[in-house]
Amino acid sequence: MPTRKKFVAGNWKMNTTLAEAKALGAAVAKGVTDDRVTVAVFPPYPWLTAVGETLKGSPVALGAQDVSSEKKGAFTGEVSPAMLLETGCKYALIGHSERRHIIGESETFINHKVHTALEEGLSVVLCMGETLAERERGLQERVFQRQVYAACAGLTDEQFGRIVIAYEPVWAIGTGKVATPEQAQEAHAFVRSKLRQLYGDKIADSTPIVYGGSVTPDNTVGLMSQPDVDGALVGGASLKADSFLAIVKAAG
Ligand code: PEP
Repeated sequence: MPTRKKFVAGNWKMNTTLAEAKALGAAVAKGVTDDRVTVAVFPPYPWLTAVGETLKGSPVALGAQDVSSEKKGAFTGEVSPAMLLETGCKYALIGHSERRHIIGESETFINHKVHTALEEGLSVVLCMGETLAERERGLQERVFQRQVYAACAGLTDEQFGRIVIAYEPVWAIGTGKVATPEQAQEAHAFVRSKLRQLYGDKIADSTPIVYGGSVTPDNTVGLMSQPDVDGALVGGASLKADSFLAIVKAAG
């Protein structure tokens, strides 16, 4: 059986004041004392540098919630991968459901972002998952297949080594309705089978696939007990250091 290190990330979304972000970063950094689990936090863009300062000397990595599809130039409001690297970011989230469904990002655009981010040296947490309407019509596997195929098209093996996939059913994000461990396992196993079919055993066995959607300290152990669930992407519960650290502990 391949062993994949667990990965737990906190997506703070458009929350926290600067003071709150610094306090949260410092508390997470203080609470993560070993690297049994890879831990990362994703604060809002304007707080990246300040939160990065609070993480210095700890194993907690910094990530951004989005990234431009372009490297530089006349793209008003965008933030490039190079800028994120300079703030101390290691990761960028790409394809979060709120960006796919609220902002309207397309599969092609997401693939473009993935390529730019990886070419520039970032690692990528690539989010995917079905809507409630898609699940109710039994279309989830078709959706995963389309999303994996579209987002990862054209990546090299080395670039795959810097990808974490986050399976986030849209109906579970911020709703309190977590997928059952069996639903998560079924989805992760299917995504891994597509990676195997498209890219081979090495990539399928080594790519972490983490679950996101109403993860709490109470449901983490059940989710993490599944063989293809390699960690968690946490929204609401990452805004309190205690609950986020309890999830990290439960994942380890
Ligand atoms: C998310 O936004 O990635 C997420 C999983 O949110 P929540 O944990 O609040 O459902």
